[in-house]
Amino acid sequence: MQSDPSDCRVLFARWVLPMSSPPMRNAAVVIENHTITDVLYRDELTYKYPPEYVEKLTENAHEYGDAIILPGLINLHTHLDYSALRCFDVESGMFDWICGLVARASEWKPEQWLASATYGVREAALSGTTCLVDSSFTGLSVHAIARIGLRAIVGLELFGLRDDEASAVWGNWLTRFDKLKNTVESVARVAIAMEKIKLTVAPHAPYTVCPTLWLKATTWAQEKNMPLLAHLSESAEECQWIMSSNRRIDEYLTHVKKLRDPNLATTESGILEELTHIRWKGRGLSPTRHLKNYGLLDENLLAAHAVNLDDEDIGLLAETRVKIAHCPRSNARLRNGRAPLERIIAAGIRFGLGTDGLGSNDDLNLLQEARFAVDLHRSAAPDLKWTSAQILSSLTTDAARILNLDQQIGSIEPGKLADLAVFTIDHLEHCADNPYDLLVHGKTTLSDLFVDGSAVVAARELVQH
Ligand SMILES: [Zn+2]
Repeated sequence: MQSDPSDCRVLFARWVLPMSSPPMRNAAVVIENHTITDVLYRDELTYKYPPEYVEKLTENAHEYGDAIILPGLINLHTHLDYSALRCFDVESGMFDWICGLVARASEWKPEQWLASATYGVREAALSGTTCLVDSSFTGLSVHAIARIGLRAIVGLELFGLRDDEASAVWGNWLTRFDKLKNTVESVARVAIAMEKIKLTVAPHAPYTVCPTLWLKATTWAQEKNMPLLAHLSESAEECQWIMSSNRRIDEYLTHVKKLRDPNLATTESGILEELTHIRWKGRGLSPTRHLKNYGLLDENLLAAHAVNLDDEDIGLLAETRVKIAHCPRSNARLRNGRAPLERIIAAGIRFGLGTDGLGSNDDLNLLQEARFAVDLHRSAAPDLKWTSAQILSSLTTDAARILNLDQQIGSIEPGKLADLAVFTIDHLEHCADNPYDLLVHGKTTLSDLFVDGSAVVAARELVQH
């Protein structure tokens, strides 16, 4: 029994990549409302369905021709808030860069934060991303994502170094979270109610969040069964600070504290002095072992960067089933080095790719991120086996599983939500017969993008501006 065919659409292309099964040449995806109802070879359509259904369906057909249809790409780490700070201070190392970034953005009004986030969401959509995992300082990225029509998990950031202030800081975070969740802005409210946008907690990093506060976030994420978004082992400075001390991070923390609270009576030297009294660090542990020591490693943790890891750290992350958002271009741009992806893969740790924010990357294009990643790791670890098919899995099926969204998205299968990216193949000749290689190493252009079966990008243009 077929449902009302007027609600159905069929998309034809040279290639359909379901990602949960092998590539299909000359194939079609059938969509009904929000959902994928079938994926099949073009020839199958006429004998699989009654003629009147096929006729009706083909009235709503889209012939993409030389194109590849695949599940929409999933970006596991962004900071949409800071999108307007593209190319910001690109010559600096991480902590000069971040001090400048925070100072610049501290002058912004809410509409500037929103415009900045919207600029980033547009760019992500136009490069094939349907789902974003965003760490947001303001929470305003929720509105930008909802307006453009993407799917997302947005973590409202949490900061707080003092154990004795953890309860008050957590209470304040809960208030901000409730306010965001119950927003009066109608598009965002609908997206949250439909769970197209999910909200979670983002304790920023081991050098900005004390274990007492982090534990409250961990417990909250466990209760809600939501990913907890954090940065981990991003820089050598972070490792030194957690292990013993690091002057540059102390200066950064002082700078940010004065910036966020200009009326603070304590002088900069007073804040620096306070930092030397922190008792929960300086125990000779790596950031990973530090979190483990306080019971803060668990399967909900989605750790961005994870650059500085020794074998013991990698063993702990694997054992506790922590996931990694690998951000190779940002790590390089901020001079933080290369994450040991070959050892992460060998340990069986689940990972996907993140672009990080536009403040530390050239764009939010995940295929560009993948190209950089594969060249970087192949040059440093020539024995690495990471095929184009595996790379695309890390952008689709693997990323969906990491987010506990694999029942809804990440592959093209009947019953899943129609989050799809359509890339046209721009080669003069089809030099490669492997569509995964065409996407990772070839030249393609995003044509159309669907989220929940609705067009977000059509003929290379955003539907909502
Ligand atoms: Zn980040």
